[in-house]
Amino acid sequence: MFEKRTKSIFIDGKWKDMDSQKTVTVYNPATLERLTDVAYGGASETKSAIEAASTAFPVWSEMTGRERSRILYKAAELMTEDADRLGEILTLEQGKPLKEAVGEVKGAAGFLLWYAEEASRGYGEWIPSSTKSKRLLVIPRPVGVIGAITPWNFPASMITRKLGPALAAGCTAVLKPAPETPLSAIEIVKIFAKAGMPNGVVNLVTGDAQAIGNEMLTNKDVRLITFTGSTAVGKYLMRESSEHVKKLSLELGGHAPSIVFDDADIDKATTLVLGSKFRNNGQTCICTNRLYVHESIADAFTSMLKDKVAQMKIGSGLGNDVELGPLINEKAFEKVQAHLDDAVKNGAKVVYGGSQWEGNLDGHFYQPTILSGATDNMLIMNEETFGPIIPVQTFTDEDEALRKANDTDYGLAAYIFTENTNRAIRASEKLEYGIVGVNDVFPSVPEAPFGGIKQSGVGKEGGHHGMDEFLEKKFISVGLDG
Ligand code: NAP
Repeated sequence: MFEKRTKSIFIDGKWKDMDSQKTVTVYNPATLERLTDVAYGGASETKSAIEAASTAFPVWSEMTGRERSRILYKAAELMTEDADRLGEILTLEQGKPLKEAVGEVKGAAGFLLWYAEEASRGYGEWIPSSTKSKRLLVIPRPVGVIGAITPWNFPASMITRKLGPALAAGCTAVLKPAPETPLSAIEIVKIFAKAGMPNGVVNLVTGDAQAIGNEMLTNKDVRLITFTGSTAVGKYLMRESSEHVKKLSLELGGHAPSIVFDDADIDKATTLVLGSKFRNNGQTCICTNRLYVHESIADAFTSMLKDKVAQMKIGSGLGNDVELGPLINEKAFEKVQAHLDDAVKNGAKVVYGGSQWEGNLDGHFYQPTILSGATDNMLIMNEETFGPIIPVQTFTDEDEALRKANDTDYGLAAYIFTENTNRAIRASEKLEYGIVGVNDVFPSVPEAPFGGIKQSGVGKEGGHHGMDEFLEKKFISVGLDG
């Protein structure tokens, strides 16, 4: 399916060989088989890519929104038509079940479609002046060249959630995908080219994160860095970008609490919690990481959750009906095991799972796991696990649940399960999170703002809010005669 070596550096509309011949191998995380090698680019490739994006900026930004829109529509259409093949590539490099992967590709195309529609709606303002001799205008302008850095857990949608609004706004881009999942990025760049994107508007560099990131940070032509990944790297980018006062948009880690109130529909809530926790094998920034269940329903809830989890099929993402694929790598597996060990050491009981999945594949698989008796001091109740363990803690009243849910430096997503509308509104307003799901665990859609508060990030992706990140507001003050 793949060449021994796949070209992965795309600058000014051309696939390039690198200055150095250094490569990095892409593996199938389910089997640990080598898929292909891609270029290990660095500062010089990034510099050339930034130059290409700078040259393309006047061309792209001066096109009308309608003209940009047509290219984004075409890209969305091409991606949707090719979703099955792109989904298979995504599963091969990332591991998630094929159905989820095809769903991600269609969702990724959905961001392009939404921003194709938004491209011609960058409205300005005419502000009534307090003096008769002035006219006050505010016009939106694209910020310029942007650097986009993406993670491996959503190799397609994290790219289009950034490039969709950036391109619609009139920005040009240099993209650096995660080393585990460059193949989806390569396919997306090919789609843009096929859709008629002018040369230099979208450029791709795979390779040395430190060197690529450093060039983006120190090159004055890059006006904004949009990053999705860990809070640690987000903080680093924030510190280092201060030298040139670059704009930043950061989608960082989370530690989502799910609260199941005593008036919840237990059948519905167990299905939703399962969907939230085990999607992408728990490797999602908005996955439930802590589960608080009202003490009066905890036994019934845990028992039903266990029955449903026991039916989940584990295996290669390409296998029929598989719902849980591999963890991305050994480091991820070790983190999951460390969280499990720490919880058990501190008194948690394993209700289901609790160890490696002993299947016939070489990848790093972990059984879907439920723990009861979780307490506040456990690692798993404080740090992102990024794996398939769900710790259950009980609570006695609403205030206690909300206090525990808010007791974290993260603020990305939180979920509540209740059939009481008053409680739903009251609790949503009190949760210190950028996103609250009420009987809903899939709150990422192209038309609404997605993003965290506190140490989960700055800025929004999605909706018209997502496009605002890539627009400056220019104020034009006109003095009139007489
Ligand atoms: P990560 O280690 O922070 O890496 C993310 C990206 O940043 C990768 O492409 C990585 O490349 C790159 N990177 C690392 N150090 C860099 C540097 N010094 N300069 C420039 N780029 C650098 O995160 P991850 O493990 O891939 O992703 C998981 C994290 O992402 C989790 O914390 C998750 O919650 C978060 N996430 C958040 C959202 C959201 O919307 N808030 C969505 C998805 C994921 P290398 O791997 O080559 O270092």
